[in-house]
Amino acid sequence: MATPGIWRKVPDYLLDPHGPLTIRVAALPGLATWLFKFFLAGATHGKVEQTVQALSYLLHDVPDLHLKLAEKAGLGELIFRNGLLHVYSDKNTFDNDAIAWQLRAKYGVRWIGWAERDLRKYIPNLAARYQFGALLDGAFCRDPEKYVAGLVSHAVSLGANYIKGEVVSVSELGVVSLMDQKITFDQVVISAGAASKHLTGLLGYNIPMRSERSYHIQISDPGFDLPIPVMPSDGKMATTMTNGGLRIAGQVELASEDACPNWSRCDVLLEWACRVYPELSNVDLDGRVTRWMGRRPSVADGLPVISRTSRSAKVIYALGAWPYWSSGGSKNCRTC
Ligand SMILES: Cc1cc2nc3c(=O)[nH]c(=O)nc-3n(C[C@H](O)[C@H](O)[C@H](O)COP(=O)(O)OP(=O)(O)OC[C@H]3O[C@@H](n4cnc5c(N)ncnc54)[C@H](O)[C@@H]3O)c2cc1C
Repeated sequence: MATPGIWRKVPDYLLDPHGPLTIRVAALPGLATWLFKFFLAGATHGKVEQTVQALSYLLHDVPDLHLKLAEKAGLGELIFRNGLLHVYSDKNTFDNDAIAWQLRAKYGVRWIGWAERDLRKYIPNLAARYQFGALLDGAFCRDPEKYVAGLVSHAVSLGANYIKGEVVSVSELGVVSLMDQKITFDQVVISAGAASKHLTGLLGYNIPMRSERSYHIQISDPGFDLPIPVMPSDGKMATTMTNGGLRIAGQVELASEDACPNWSRCDVLLEWACRVYPELSNVDLDGRVTRWMGRRPSVADGLPVISRTSRSAKVIYALGAWPYWSSGGSKNCRTC
């Protein structure tokens, strides 16, 4: 996420009520170190490229691996291997993002440019103000919740033992404490998303991770279909057709970990949805929109933490990842 000069854009983002970033003032003191490390990670092209190189090694075959796993688990119909489309107002605006596109190309991400006639042909409901697109090799999932539940059932069918409960702590000896029991394992993988920071903190590690909040709205029966996820460059969000309807997700809110959701961010997403797909303005949305807030586990330098801990061979960290292969984010549709 961090690129050279991004800090210069931050004031404009913050002043724009429809902008892609909000920071709650009360959270600023607690954010200072993370923000500093975030800007530092994107301070030069060399640093950005280091991050890209590491992520590309990790992510290059993710769509194929998901498809393979989904097929094995009998969930193949949920994964669509047909790409992700970024849309821009015109080619010049696209060229302003040249660094990102050059880096993608350098690290083997295939993409092709779509002229206006392609956009109109494949995404007829897209607003006329988008006149250029870049179709990336990628995949998306039509139902993240069903996918994750299906993977759990698949693991159980292969002999895994599924225990549901809140983990209170993990010890270096591999003892996992739940609310009502303790269980000792040979190996423990901590992969609790944004909550991992608390669990790893109890083990004495201070991982520079924040939860980057984000919201989504889902519109059931929007009146049109979308063959591929569409990411409007100006809104910094993704619009994906899921089995439950059109999901609009993205943008970033930095707030204290325990702050209440700011549901007006969902209104901003709805306004964006109507700008991107003008037909939605004519649809009666009453009772058709659900909303959700989630927390991205975000390490300041953009690199996930995947490693054995230095103090114990029994504990492994797998946290801080937020790949973009488009699922609309939420596996559990929690509502606050
Ligand atoms: C609005 C939004 C949209 C997004 N859109 C996309 C997208 O389109 N494409 C994409 O690739 N990524 C997207 N992301 C990012 C993606 O959701 C995250 O990167 C991903 O979910 C991180 O996976 P994870 O397994 O590390 O953590 P999580 O998905 O957060 O999973 C952590 C799990 O651990 C559980 N847990 C936490 N604490 C405990 C505890 N103490 N005991 C037991 N269980 C615990 C949680 O309940 C949860 O089930 C989006 C994120 C958001 C918020």
